[in-house]
Amino acid sequence: MKRREFIKKAGAGAIAAGAVIAGAPAVHAKKTIDITMVATWGRDFPGLGTGAQRFAKRLSDMTDGRMKVNYFASGERVKAFDSFDEVASGNAQIYHAAEYYWKGKHPGFPFFCSVPFGLTYTEFNAWIRFGGGQELWDELGAEFGVKGLMCGNTGSQMGGWFRKEINSVDDLKGLKMRIPGLGGDVMAKLGASPVSLPGGQIYENLISGSIDATEWVGPWNDGFMKFYEAAKYYYYPGMHEPGSMLCIGLNKKWWDGLSKSDQLIIEAASSMENDVMMAEFNAKNGASLAKLVTDQGVQLREFNDDIYDAFGKASAEVYAETRKHSKLAAKIYDSFADARKEVGSWMKISDQAYLNQRNRVLAF
Ligand code: CA
Repeated sequence: MKRREFIKKAGAGAIAAGAVIAGAPAVHAKKTIDITMVATWGRDFPGLGTGAQRFAKRLSDMTDGRMKVNYFASGERVKAFDSFDEVASGNAQIYHAAEYYWKGKHPGFPFFCSVPFGLTYTEFNAWIRFGGGQELWDELGAEFGVKGLMCGNTGSQMGGWFRKEINSVDDLKGLKMRIPGLGGDVMAKLGASPVSLPGGQIYENLISGSIDATEWVGPWNDGFMKFYEAAKYYYYPGMHEPGSMLCIGLNKKWWDGLSKSDQLIIEAASSMENDVMMAEFNAKNGASLAKLVTDQGVQLREFNDDIYDAFGKASAEVYAETRKHSKLAAKIYDSFADARKEVGSWMKISDQAYLNQRNRVLAF
């Protein structure tokens, strides 16, 4: 290329580049997005509430305040269990919740939180991201005008707080227990009376005797709730919530109208919270449990095999009934079952086999 031609071309390029820069503010200036967010958790509830609040703040920080999130804890705008309708109707744009609270709307929802004998945190992420889970969740959400994204996890939960020892299935009969989701249906099959209460109402009901037992989350959260004041027997492991995923639910119409980059920012903030919340629960549960036992005299107990066998039999019945609800419920169950089989078989000879040997050989 001759020097004159080169200068000419470079000049044209410079002009073109200049044009882009001059037009930049018009092309790239993004408008402020006001977001109303509601949650099923009380303000500053450890882990669940603080995680949802941390997500809201992150969204604002990631956009230098361009996304203005107005966060309402449960009861501050709507009651905990009205969060879904608030977002589905478009009155708010985002909720933070546990999808199993919407079991009455569709029995497919609990599969996107946690179900009896279900997936652990690690397995859950594999199913949602690579096993078709997100696609089915989108299909289910679309029926109600919402879209869900993973936004936190508690890991394996405890079996719950009881006033008496649970030594046989007979001990569960007639027990009024706070246990939501399909886990509640399992307990009902064993003769208990399950109730679903938002976190903020459990303590008063347990203290007053309106309920006999409750599950909530794990040592860190449960210690904060002071359930030990009413029930001393603390059982593990919880069959009902082996890796409870929390989520954000977005008004679908609003979500579909966002730019790709804004969608990605929300996805990134949510995905980050999914990771951070799990880390926080794992970091704090061990020390919290030791404190409950030594400071509060909590009696730690493990459900025996007979009880677990009964949980398993009842769960199979609950699944058979859930599958019959609709084509979509069956599709969700089948996909979940495939993940439990395939991912679970790998976990058995990887994480599980390693943990067994590690704990047997070298204790710390
Ligand atoms: Ca729970």
